[in-house]
Parts: sequence; structure tokens; C-alpha cells
Amino acid sequence: MEILKKAQKILEKHPLCNRCLGRQFALLGYNLENQTRGETIKLLLTMKAHEKILANNKAGVTALKTLATNGAFPMAMQILQMRKIPVGKARPCYLCEEKTTDISKLAEKSVKLLSDYEFSTFLVGIKLLAEIKEREDEFKAEFGLNLGEDMRNDFSRVIGREISKLTGKEVEFNKPDISILVNPFNQQVTLQINPLYIAGKYKKLVRGVSQSRWLCRECKGKGCKKCNWTGKTYAESVEEFVAAPTLEMTQGMTAEFHGAGREDVDARMLGKGRPFIIEVKQPKKRFIDLKMLEETINTRAAGKVEVHELRFADKNLIRHLKKGEAIEKTYRVTVEFGRNVSDDELTSLEKSLHGILVRQQTPQRVLHRRSDRMREKYIYEAKVKRLSPNRAQLKVRCQGGLYVKELVTGDDGRTKPSVAEILGTKATPSQLDVLEVIERKQK
Ligand SMILES: [Zn+2]
Ligand SMILES: [Zn+2]
Repeated sequence: MEILKKAQKILEKHPLCNRCLGRQFALLGYNLENQTRGETIKLLLTMKAHEKILANNKAGVTALKTLATNGAFPMAMQILQMRKIPVGKARPCYLCEEKTTDISKLAEKSVKLLSDYEFSTFLVGIKLLAEIKEREDEFKAEFGLNLGEDMRNDFSRVIGREISKLTGKEVEFNKPDISILVNPFNQQVTLQINPLYIAGKYKKLVRGVSQSRWLCRECKGKGCKKCNWTGKTYAESVEEFVAAPTLEMTQGMTAEFHGAGREDVDARMLGKGRPFIIEVKQPKKRFIDLKMLEETINTRAAGKVEVHELRFADKNLIRHLKKGEAIEKTYRVTVEFGRNVSDDELTSLEKSLHGILVRQQTPQRVLHRRSDRMREKYIYEAKVKRLSPNRAQLKVRCQGGLYVKELVTGDDGRTKPSVAEILGTKATPSQLDVLEVIERKQK
């Protein structure tokens, strides 16, 4: 059916505002608002009806009455009034119930809420009750309308453009800083502030600092005798050193720390540092000076923890960080032997560890949180240096995921080979440092 005939038929049955009528033909024409589209259709229908009236065709009067009432079209109303033809009142739109005509009010309301936050990009999401959506679907089916647009798209675009005009910020579909949820039917506007991600690298220059905040197992954070009323197993963590200044500067609600793997609490993290991302939930400030943040963190951490290369990142980088098991690492560990060892033994130890595959059953000390399985990890390079008759320093460059402490002790035969096994004596790791973490290149 031709557009105009179809539109007239629709209006005979249901009152529709300009936007809702225009939306049913949204795929026709280009760079045109549905509002204008609907208005144009009604204008043409009015002209057609007027033509009929001038030709004394009664059908013209009926058509004009439809446009004046169900179309709420002022021009149709005026023509009828000039001709002293009585006509009923304009009726509210069947689809949007006329509650959606005030788009600029919704945009203004959004902008007011947004004024608390710094952002560059946003996206408008439209919340609709299921019954409203169903009503439009049934309506479309009834008239065979398949060149229209979804009501949500329509409102999202129009309100988005209005907000863009008022704020100068851009609509962004994939990763908006803020999502604005609008329900045009009850005029409710809520904001969803998306997290801010800051990536960097950290060094841990002292032992006894955990990577993440570690709640006391006994009291689960409430504070008890065992944790000296701190609620924490370890007094200090990299997470807290990084999170506190970040939260202050961004005025966020909470922060989550993501590391590319982790070192043991008693191990230092040296070299170029370990990559991490701090995720700030509901930040009010996004345009922060990262150099200043870096300085604040480092000053307050006072030589215990040091961050550098801070930069803004996005969510995808977290997934990349979490896949970090395949990355390469360099460790330095001090080994205490159960007896004095000879130079020849140390030379042979170095040779035995160089370029080998280590078979490792999940260490007993992490069995409570990791599944019990066998893994094979390469040692690319091993260097041994004597420190005293019964102590040596072992440096290994290996595949990420190798448990180095167990490489030394043998973990009751669960790691093979091991330093203890090769030398046939007890071997204990005393000081462990991570010297380097090499990330897999991001695709
Ligand atoms: Zn409407
Ligand atoms: Zn406790």
C-alpha cells in the first residue's frame, strides 16, 4: 500500500503524534527526523483532503476530521474551523501516550545529573515497560509496517543529540564513560557511571607486603586478636598503596586491583615491575594528572612500593592481564642447603636446570585454593652463584606459572626435578625476588 494511504488508514484507527507516525516509515528518506517525517505525511494528507473539499467531495471532510482529532494536526483543525464544520478534540498518541513529547526536558534533567561527573562520552539507553513495547509490535503487525524503527532507537538518538548539544560531549556506543538510562514514560533518569581504568607497573621493594588487600581469615575483616585488630592478614598491600590516592583523586566509590599474576608476600617484585590495572568504580573525576598520581602514590608508599608508566586503559586490557600465565619471568632466590656444597656440585646444578622442562604437581601450600593438577614449565636459563659454603643464589628465567619455591624444595617429590633432588640434600628458599615479568604482546 502506498505510504499516504497507509498513514490515513492508521490514523483512522489510532491517534498518533508526529514522531510516532514518522517512526513507522523511518527507513524511507535520509537524514530526516521522525518528527518531521510524520509532520510531512500529515501535511500531505491535509492537502489531499483540502483538495477533495474544494471539489465538493464529502470524503475530504471525513479525512480532515481524522487528521484534526487522531492526527492532532493544527492545520486540519483550522481548515475545518474556517468552514464552520464542527469537530472533536485532538486525542493523545496511542503509542507514546503523549508522555514523550517533552524530550528537551528529559535532556535537561540528564544534564543536571551529569554535572557531578567528568566524562567525554556517553550513551542514552531507553527503558520501556514490556507492555509499551508489545503494543507497538502488535500495531506494526496490524498494519504490515516493516520500514519503521524501534521506539528505543528513536528516543535514544533524539535525546542523545539534545544532550550532546547541551554538553558538547559525544555519543559513544561501545565504551561510553557514562550510560544515561531514561524512561520517557515516567520521566525517570538514572546514570550508570562506567569504571575508569588506569594501567601501570609496580615494583615491590620490601618483603611482607601482599599484592591485594588480604582480609583476616579469622574475623573476615572485622578485627580480632589474631590480626591485631586490623582486620587484615598483612598490614600493607600494593593494592592499598595504589588505591587510596587513586580514589582520592578520582573521587570514586571503590577500586579494584588487577595484577598480571602475583608474587608471594615474602617475595619482592623488582626489575621493570609487574603490570597492573586499577579499576575505579563510579569516578567523579576522569581527567586526572597521572604524573601527579604517580608521585603521590610513590611518596606515600615511601620506598615500599613504587609505580610507574601510569596510563589510561580500557576493560579489554584486564582480560589480557589475566591471561598472563604464559608470560616469561625471571626470579632470583637465595637457597640454603642442608650441608656444605662443592663448586662442582653448584656447576652441575646450573647445568641440570638450564633449558629443561619441570614437571610440577600443584604445590601443597596452594592446594587449598588451586586445583590439584600436573603442569609442565620451561626453564630457559639458570645461573647459580655461591654466597657461602651452604648458601647460593639461583637466578632462573622461566615460563610464567612455575612455582619457584617448589623448584628449590621439591615439595615432597611433587616437583621434578628440583634443587634438593639434584644435589641430594635439603634445600630451602630464603629470599625470593621477581626480577622481571614479560607480558605477552597485545594483539
Ligand atoms: Zn507518539
Ligand atoms: Zn582478624
